[in-house]
Amino acid sequence: MAHGRYLFVSDLHLDPLAPQAIAQFTSFLRGPATRCDGLYILGDLFETWIGDDDDEPARRQVCEALRALVDSGVPCHVQRGNRDFLLGAGFAARTGCTLLPDPVLFEADSLRAVLSHGDVLCTGDVRYQHFRSLVRAPGFQAGYLALPLATRRAVARIARAGSRRHVRQLREEIMDVEADAVARMLQVAGADLLIHGHTHRPGVHAVQVAGRPCTRIVLGDWYDQGSCLTLHADGRHELAGLPR
Ligand code: MN
Repeated sequence: MAHGRYLFVSDLHLDPLAPQAIAQFTSFLRGPATRCDGLYILGDLFETWIGDDDDEPARRQVCEALRALVDSGVPCHVQRGNRDFLLGAGFAARTGCTLLPDPVLFEADSLRAVLSHGDVLCTGDVRYQHFRSLVRAPGFQAGYLALPLATRRAVARIARAGSRRHVRQLREEIMDVEADAVARMLQVAGADLLIHGHTHRPGVHAVQVAGRPCTRIVLGDWYDQGSCLTLHADGRHELAGLPR
């Protein structure tokens, strides 16, 4: 029997100001993605997402390309990242994608992997974790989504500038995942593979969790080129850059 073959991407940061990344991703959706058993987008698909009612053309184009892939028979799953945490039921209905919680367990044959955007693993950045719980609160989100689109766009611009200032003053190691958080996530999930993005440090790392050999795969961002993990249900995997 043929094993399933799944594709994982994250941190595309799609934005109308970077049309090359949008073109690369939509041709990825029309090409390689049509030949897999499931596509998993682990957060930060969009640089910003101000609500499912946004009518901005570049984001609409991406949603239509996702819809075409789903309609062709490839299940597509999306986790929210720290940039597009407002992706909601309207996005899911428009694209046919399934929104996944974070973290979530992925199972295929004997494979048990835990999937996360990865920002929850950066526990060293206490100020960010505080901000994260604030903006994930339903009351906060409902208040923001009730604002007119133009106001939401302006708020998103201010928030991005504040985030850039915050990231610039962080030490390198604070911007990476914490080993404890990684071990805990693998332990709780009972998985031996963790796949995440967020840090923009693509790589495959061996980790020991309570004496168990585990693997942590970090997906790359799509700023200068694409990045994609191919995972086979028998555990084989290839993490590759996709030159533009
Ligand atoms: Mn991120």
